[in-house]
Amino acid sequence: MKPKSIRPVSAFDADRILAEIVKWVGFETPSDRPDLIDALLDHVEGLFDGLPVERRRIPASEGRGGQLVLRYDPARSNAEPLLFMGHIDTVWAAGTLAERPVRRDGDKVFGPGIFDMKAGSCLATLTLLDLAREGIAPPRPVVVFLNSDEEIGSHVSRGTIETLGREAAMIMVPEPSFEAVGTVITARKGWGNFTLKATGVSAHAGGSLHEGRSAIREIARHVIEIEAMTESEPHATFNVGTIAGGTRPNVVPAEALAEVDMRVDNMDEAKRLEAAILARRPFDPDVKLEVTGGINRPPFVRSSEVARLYEATRGLADRLGLPLGETQRGGVSDGNIVAALGKPVLDGLGCSGAGAHALHEHILYSTIAPRAALMYAMATDEAYAAQF
Ligand SMILES: [Zn+2]
Repeated sequence: MKPKSIRPVSAFDADRILAEIVKWVGFETPSDRPDLIDALLDHVEGLFDGLPVERRRIPASEGRGGQLVLRYDPARSNAEPLLFMGHIDTVWAAGTLAERPVRRDGDKVFGPGIFDMKAGSCLATLTLLDLAREGIAPPRPVVVFLNSDEEIGSHVSRGTIETLGREAAMIMVPEPSFEAVGTVITARKGWGNFTLKATGVSAHAGGSLHEGRSAIREIARHVIEIEAMTESEPHATFNVGTIAGGTRPNVVPAEALAEVDMRVDNMDEAKRLEAAILARRPFDPDVKLEVTGGINRPPFVRSSEVARLYEATRGLADRLGLPLGETQRGGVSDGNIVAALGKPVLDGLGCSGAGAHALHEHILYSTIAPRAALMYAMATDEAYAAQF
């Protein structure tokens, strides 16, 4: 078998690819429904029946769906693979599709989970499928990993992500590319989340107010201080996204809690700020304060390895006639986990579009074939693979 030269964008049939993407969207896959996730994974596995692709299914556990590792190494080279890593879970509950079926309006194709990130995960899978069907010998083994708990923190899949990441020569994350067409993501902030829980003393608001110790008042003071850190900390932002507490207006509240979302652009600061939040003490000595949580995904820093992969990919895209730009995002992905291993990682390789986690979620049809061509070139080009 001999490797093929670069395959042009015009050789990719966007309609055929879209038909498969629409099938994937047709399997609703909220992170908390292992049964539904398994149904999509069964479908994906079935695409490879009779082909020389190793399929390793990691079964559902801890109430989370299964995961799938597809590996194509016809030469049995055992070289470090090129890893495509995507998720198939979405933030949409079962039944959403009935309310908002897939529809196309000009270049926009709408559908729950299509942009984040069924289109990208499907494109990576179809790249592997094309290689296997055509009997192409890629310069490196190609691995596709599909996980199913990314939207809820990748707690179950994390070990597999790290193992596959360590083994790989280069890692491609086909998360959505945002509004700017032709961009990839070379940095993401890290993400931490915390819960502050205050326990005070309840009392009658009329008869014995002073015997009470308000948990809401305690939490409120922390909320103000933590949110002010967005101004005082140059490398981080903070959002208190939820608060809860109290029972009735005439009762001094004994319980209250707040959930904090933290975004940080480098690991030293992430660790320092994590320690600072966890070390918070109550303002009122009669109120108990418990702080839990921490860094969930480390910052994805544009390291020299990331920059090198970006430059090499820009050269490859150039040969396809595709301009390639780079962008940095506040939102996290599993790319954060593997970038922290010091690996060359490129993220945002999926279709352009908008509306992740939103009602207007859509991809741009015109970006399907260019991204398919780029992924195919990444997997097959000898000169590109030789650089890593
Ligand atoms: Zn995503």
